[in-house]
Amino acid sequence: MQVSWRRTKIVATVGPSSQGPDIIRGMIRAGVNVFRLNFSHGTAENHRANAAVIRQMSAELGTPVGVLCDLQGPKIRIGRFENDATPQLATGGSFSLSADCDPNLGTESGVYLDAEVLDDLAEGDRLLLDDGRIELLVETLTTSTANCRVVQGGILGSHKGVNKFGGGLSAPALTEKDFIDLATAASLRTDFLAVSFVKTAGDVELARSSLEAAGSQARIIAKMERAEAIAEPICSEIIAAADGIMVARGDLGVEIGDENLIAVQKDLISRAISANKLTITATQMMESMIEASTPTRAEVFDVANAVLDGTDAVMLSAETAIGAYPVATVKAMARVIQGAERHPTLERTQQPLAVGFSDIDQAVALSAMYAANHLHGIKAVICLTETGTTPRWMSRIQSSLPIFALAEKVGTSEVTALYRGVVPVYFQASAIKPEMINHLAVQTVCDMAGLRKGDLVIMTKGDFINVHGGTNTLKILRVGDKIQ
Ligand code: PGA
Ligand code: MN
Repeated sequence: MQVSWRRTKIVATVGPSSQGPDIIRGMIRAGVNVFRLNFSHGTAENHRANAAVIRQMSAELGTPVGVLCDLQGPKIRIGRFENDATPQLATGGSFSLSADCDPNLGTESGVYLDAEVLDDLAEGDRLLLDDGRIELLVETLTTSTANCRVVQGGILGSHKGVNKFGGGLSAPALTEKDFIDLATAASLRTDFLAVSFVKTAGDVELARSSLEAAGSQARIIAKMERAEAIAEPICSEIIAAADGIMVARGDLGVEIGDENLIAVQKDLISRAISANKLTITATQMMESMIEASTPTRAEVFDVANAVLDGTDAVMLSAETAIGAYPVATVKAMARVIQGAERHPTLERTQQPLAVGFSDIDQAVALSAMYAANHLHGIKAVICLTETGTTPRWMSRIQSSLPIFALAEKVGTSEVTALYRGVVPVYFQASAIKPEMINHLAVQTVCDMAGLRKGDLVIMTKGDFINVHGGTNTLKILRVGDKIQ
């Protein structure tokens, strides 16, 4: 395999620092596999323009790159301060959150909060404002006002987010704005849709039916960022309903406490893998690179840890959206991933043998990986795929072998771009005579996989090319032999 081979993928957020063809091209070259359009910021026109540039640069470079639209969701926020003041809340002082306060006229003694949110509060609750920078303890409560003690003071600004420690602030996962943004995402042919603050599997199902109604087959990523979403049985139900999850460590860490994130990240990733689902590990992975040209040692190890946990992708947020070094950050992340992937534990295959298979393509996919990982001389797995189902099964198995996903259908390569260990390749099988397909498929990956005469490859495909769910064949081919 080429030196640049990297199994774990990179998701990078587009923002003011990453606008325009040159920077997007640079980021793809540096290793971005999926771009995230963050609907918490920017206009629909803005996102549409960015998506067009991404598609254009991906086509120009011949590199399949996915687009992930991330909905804002019901992030609960305080109101505005008068003249957008930024009062300093003194530790030990008092501060009120009140529906009686004018939404635009907060003061240093209190600010507006929606009455429905206040309904979910109880005396003794701990509220975390501005990503946990400020902590309030609810001391007394009326129907319209929470009088709080400032446990951890600091500077507060307008519209900062509010989380309750332990979770439990109710709000529907899809807001009116989210439905509008979802339609925009569908219209720009997004490959993935991330749903924020998912609380139940029903939220995921609602997003899926809305997407389908808008004519989109985008894969859904449920953002795990609420305390109630990681409790059983809800957690398993959400994972089952979604195509993948994001370990959204920013909001989740505030709700459950950062010391609890470590085990939760490992647990969520391993559960998702066993359920044949994708994972993205997100937030503050290379935070210092917003301003610095190199990561800290701690950040290097954070990225590496997620790689060792088996995540499909690691994500950059502010680092590439508003940071000073978007391309350098992607390069640093790619380098660190490759370093982590040299760890011997990742070379070992781990294949659960005791599971029953539910589909033919699953049986073929997992048998192919079993053979690939145990037959000496196999250098690559080649998988002719319609929708990406077979390579998704394959990529749930830890392996040091590259899985080449050869696809023709528009959008499939952009989706498999996120899968760990999968190299997406455009392959126009419908234009090839059936008896030539195997030969040309091997030839197509030959350079990428560094194949030499005598090397073995495993190939899976169906009897009928470009048919969904048709994978029924596994072949082991020797490079250089007459291939049929
Ligand atoms: P966000 O989600 O960046 O949209 O807040 C990720 C997180 O909370 O970690
Ligand atoms: Mn979040």
